[in-house]
Amino acid sequence: MNSVEKLIGLPEYKVLRINTRYKQKVIIDIETKTEKLECPKCKQFTSSIDHRYQHSVRDNSISGKEAYLQIHKKVFYCNQCDYSFTEKLESVYPRHIYTNRYEQKIFENCLENTIMNISRSENLPYDCVRGIYTRIADICIEHLMTFKEEIEILGIDEISIRKGHKNFQAVISNIGGGYVIDMLPDRKKSTVLKYLQNLPKKAKQRIVFVSIDMWEGYFTATQEALPNTTIVIDRFHVMKNLNAAITSCRREIQRNLPKELRDKYKGYRWVLVKNAHLTGGRFPKIFLADRQACHQKNPVTA
Ligand SMILES: [Zn+2]
Repeated sequence: MNSVEKLIGLPEYKVLRINTRYKQKVIIDIETKTEKLECPKCKQFTSSIDHRYQHSVRDNSISGKEAYLQIHKKVFYCNQCDYSFTEKLESVYPRHIYTNRYEQKIFENCLENTIMNISRSENLPYDCVRGIYTRIADICIEHLMTFKEEIEILGIDEISIRKGHKNFQAVISNIGGGYVIDMLPDRKKSTVLKYLQNLPKKAKQRIVFVSIDMWEGYFTATQEALPNTTIVIDRFHVMKNLNAAITSCRREIQRNLPKELRDKYKGYRWVLVKNAHLTGGRFPKIFLADRQACHQKNPVTA
């Protein structure tokens, strides 16, 4: 591979010539290194080239200049069955006017910037940038929703679309990968169950853990659809419910305390919810001293 080919970084091509006479752009004439191809009809190999035609595609910029690859595409001819066929390229989809890697770059830029800004900086029509973005985004979504990624830890949680309203939607995510896979229309058990049952068989076999909040529908749906997985209640929801239980228990106890102790323990909620080593042993001392007094008056709450 010569140095220009290394610079372009597309090993399937050899460079024919480079045109640098334009100020804003570089045009590179290239052709594939393919010398023979299998005829799609009779499966015999042929090295006869019927003709070539030029297919110009935009590629990643070189030294700040727009780069265009002028691909001299080969049309092979099969003598066996009198059939002509065009070679396929690894780096450009048929009839596309950008290389795959350039489209990927545009897509990635769109994730961090507006389509309008990319359109201006790349000197591309707005609709082209939007078209590239939408097409690759659709492929990504399709890829995710058909569970082609290996997912070991599946997450089921929910969000409320309108704050303060109870119209929840279940959110399915790949916890290991850190991204959302899908959003279901609601969080009913039947909806989640149907979704999990319809996952591809391979995906179901690969899932090891399902992390859920404490919504019963998720638990039973997971048990039924993915019986071989381990259900994990996520820490956030365990702590949330534990804190709520402690609060209700504390209120109950405080209500039943003798008045002098009730006043004393006012504002001591933090002692209960904080880690023991952070309270400096304050709570146990107060608690033990008063426990006996409390016990004498109210054996149940003590
Ligand atoms: Zn043939």
